[in-house]
Amino acid sequence: MSAGVGEADGLPVGSLICPEPGERPDLWSWTTLRRPDGELEIGGVAASVLAREFGTPAFVLDRADLAGRAQVWATAMAEEFWEGYGMAGGDAFYAGKAFLCSDVVRVVSQAGMGIDTASLGELTLALRAGADPAMVGLHGNNKLDEEIELALSAGEGAGIARIFVDSLGEVEQIAAVARRLGTRARVMVRLKTGIHAGGNEYIATSHEDQKFGVSVADGSALEVVAAISARPELELLGFHNHIGSQILGTEAFVAAVRVVLEFRARVEREFGLATPEVDLGGGVGIAYTGVDAAPTPVIEVVRAIAAAVREVCGELGTSIPRVSVEPGRSVVGPTTVTLYRVGAIKDVTLEGGGVRRYVSVDGGMSDNIRPALYGAQYTATLANRLSGEAPVRCRVVGKHCESGDIVVHDVDLPADVRTGDLLAVPATGAYGYAMASNYNLLAKPVVVACEGGRASVVVRRQSMEHLLELDVQ
Ligand SMILES: *Cc1c(COP(=O)(O)O)cnc(C)c1O
Repeated sequence: MSAGVGEADGLPVGSLICPEPGERPDLWSWTTLRRPDGELEIGGVAASVLAREFGTPAFVLDRADLAGRAQVWATAMAEEFWEGYGMAGGDAFYAGKAFLCSDVVRVVSQAGMGIDTASLGELTLALRAGADPAMVGLHGNNKLDEEIELALSAGEGAGIARIFVDSLGEVEQIAAVARRLGTRARVMVRLKTGIHAGGNEYIATSHEDQKFGVSVADGSALEVVAAISARPELELLGFHNHIGSQILGTEAFVAAVRVVLEFRARVEREFGLATPEVDLGGGVGIAYTGVDAAPTPVIEVVRAIAAAVREVCGELGTSIPRVSVEPGRSVVGPTTVTLYRVGAIKDVTLEGGGVRRYVSVDGGMSDNIRPALYGAQYTATLANRLSGEAPVRCRVVGKHCESGDIVVHDVDLPADVRTGDLLAVPATGAYGYAMASNYNLLAKPVVVACEGGRASVVVRRQSMEHLLELDVQ
């Protein structure tokens, strides 16, 4: 569906400037800019045009930016793990849970990425959108038989690339489904390595008390390997470890490489089982606000992983495996802004003096739960105009019946911010729409992809009819 707006709306063509004068550009997608008339534009389409044509709140996805980020990941993995450099190949799988729709599947697939899924819904959508089953994975700590069945029967019975085994019980579950379908399953074992990372920090022996994976330390991972090797229906591809989220720097990834490869070498020694692959998960961080540390460039992360793989395999005297990664946030997070319409505004006197201006918008925790869920910080800017007014301290809040319904905790907005203005919140592409709910029976927003002056709906706004469809009258 293409509305073709933006190209003929008579507004001057934007100049290539950072949308906020003097602000860092990495908060905004590559084609987001401030037009000479003061409007924010994304993919060549002005904010006011988007609001008029598609309504608010709206997730606005910069498609060229998404294609670019997906290409960076796919190319970096292919190049740094190239056979010509003595490596065994590398792949990047997009973690679909960050945000999945058919358009995103097509864009990231075309850029050379595979897709990782974690439910029947995600797997069905990815396959329906045309993802190559040979580049699709299935995760989950509590897989349903139906999910495994679809995974093994996709691609005319050839099955998807890999299923990640998360527990001992799952070995028999997957084998039973494979037996029933008369096929074999390619599996990787999700390891609990003790390494946990986020921000600049990582811990090498984090608590084992969480639900994902099987422990290297207590021997459960070896038990799972033994069970897999006893099942003719299962082919063990290798080992997986996802160490966390919003990770800066490369040290944590390097530490994970060592633990995973040492485990792989142990399996080879003790079981005579050589495994061809390892997967190092996702977790590369992005910037959400102007005070966040600069994210580590993808190429630096990939090079650090490649160097560590080479070094550790050399030390252990093992073959070099094919290496994959599963970035989600760093692929889709920075591609998208949420456009909101400003409604009620009120000034609140703070304890100890001072005033905070509460600026309400027409969405909130139903389209972005991250501030309420993890205290995530965002920023916002006026999208329909520039203002010369002095800034005032604002809190952007939603329209839900929760005082924790905050979109942006603290942001300076011009003092003349008023009802009817448009606000843009950057970096909402990952875990925004994907975690959206119908709290207070708000309809889920529209997702619009902009590129080259054209805007297309890629996920329709939920209608009142759809919203009430399940209610039994
Ligand atoms: C969530 C998740 C990812 C993606 O994480 P990002 O922080 O979005 O890059 C990758 N792999 C697994 C197993 C995950 O659960």
